[in-house]
This record gives sequence, C-alpha cells and structure tokens, in this order.
Amino acid sequence: MDRNKLVFANWKMNLDINSSTKLIKEILCRNLNYKNIDVVVAPPFVYLSEINNMLKNSQLRLSSQNVFYNDNGAFTGEISHEMLKDLGCEWVMIGHSERRIHLFETNEMINKKIIFSCKKDFNVIFCIGESYEERQKGKTFDVIKNQLNESLKNIENKYLHKIVIGYEPIWAIGSGSIPDLKDIQETHNFINHHLNEIYPNCDNLPRIVYGGSVDDSNIDSIMSLKNVDGVLVGSASLDCKKFCDIVLSVGK
Ligand code: PEP
Repeated sequence: MDRNKLVFANWKMNLDINSSTKLIKEILCRNLNYKNIDVVVAPPFVYLSEINNMLKNSQLRLSSQNVFYNDNGAFTGEISHEMLKDLGCEWVMIGHSERRIHLFETNEMINKKIIFSCKKDFNVIFCIGESYEERQKGKTFDVIKNQLNESLKNIENKYLHKIVIGYEPIWAIGSGSIPDLKDIQETHNFINHHLNEIYPNCDNLPRIVYGGSVDDSNIDSIMSLKNVDGVLVGSASLDCKKFCDIVLSVGK
C-alpha cells in the first residue's frame, strides 16, 4: 500500500512569538507542494493558537509536543485533547526521549496517552529509541521491543494507521551526526519486523520515521533506506531553508 511520507518538525522549547510566526510565514511563502507527503509542525503549546490562525488554508498540519490522558479535572499543568482540538491540532507527539528523561515518562504513561489519543481521533507520533550505553551493550533491539510492546499494549488494529513510530537513537539527537546508515537500516527493519509480529496480517501498520540530527545534507541518504517513511526533525526545523529543503527531498 502506498502511504504518504512524513516530515515532522519538533520545535521543542525554542523560539518566541515573533520568531515562531516569522518562521511559519517564511515556510508558507515557499509554497511547497505537499503531494504524497504529510508535513507537520509542533511548536510550543503557547504559540499553537497564533500559528493555527496562520495555517488556515495551508496544507501544513499542527501538532502538540505532549498531551494528557484525561478529559479534564485536577491535573495541574496538563492539557487535554479537546483543548488541543480547539487550537487546531490534529497530531500529538508522545514519548519523546527528552520527556522520558527529564519528566520521567514511562512506557505505561505513554501507552495511556496513545490509547486516549487514538480514541480522540488524533494522529500520533510515538517516539522510541535507545541510549548510547544501551547501544554499546548490544541492547538496542531489546529496548525497542520493550518500548513497542508496552506502549502499544491493547491498541486495536483499527487505530494503527493513525500512529507513526519515530525511531530516535537518543545519542544522535542534537549531536550533529547520524548513525551509520546500515545501523539505521537494521533498526528500521527490526521495528518493521516486530510490528508485523505484534499485528500479523495487518495492512495498515504504523509508518516508521527516523529522527536524530536530520538535516538538508543527510536527508537524501536517509530517505534512500527501506522502511524509512519520513523524518522527525529538531534543530533543522528551526531554519526555513534547511526545513524546506528537507521537505523537498522527502517529497521528490
Ligand atoms: C528530536 O529531538 O526530535 C530531534 C530529532 O532533534 P534533532 O533533529 O535536533 O537531533
């Protein structure tokens, strides 16, 4: 089945209101053709509303960088799916390694967030990946298998087409260099193989995208790999030219 490629921009906790709106304006001015490709931006929560107004009539889609697993109530500092819908979000990012490390998010919490997001009809980018130490000890596949098993627990087949797996080796994020292509290939093949094991005979398995120091100079080699359905971009998504060049490469 032919599926759209994905370019997902994770702005993290960067930019301010002026630089955020300037960046979106610049991207929109490039008038990129998004045929057969989903392009999604995830700004900080507080700029979603302003950016949503700018994206009306555009093909760029909006995501949050996090969400909670309850509708409302005594959950100080959290944000619900309905709130995100009000701000124009159709996507949520769940399980980013920075949230696992700094906010102590567990696979169990991530699982609840994915289940809730699916029921609320959101598209989900669900991040997984090993640390440097885990890779050095040869534990990459065990870690990834565990993250997939625990976080996708009880998720029905009918929701899988709304989920994208973002494979991000933690040690490659923000490092300026990507792993050997053969290692990226091997891990994407493993993820694809394991998804087929969890969901046998399923023709709408999650797409798998790579993240970690993707930029305009390495995008073509990453996209030449099998089982790579797109990219998750951090730093380079804050630069209009680099980001648009990535979108053009993925879309060609
Ligand atoms: C990320 O943290 O999601 C990411 C991909 O960051 P960078 O591109 O800066 O490595």
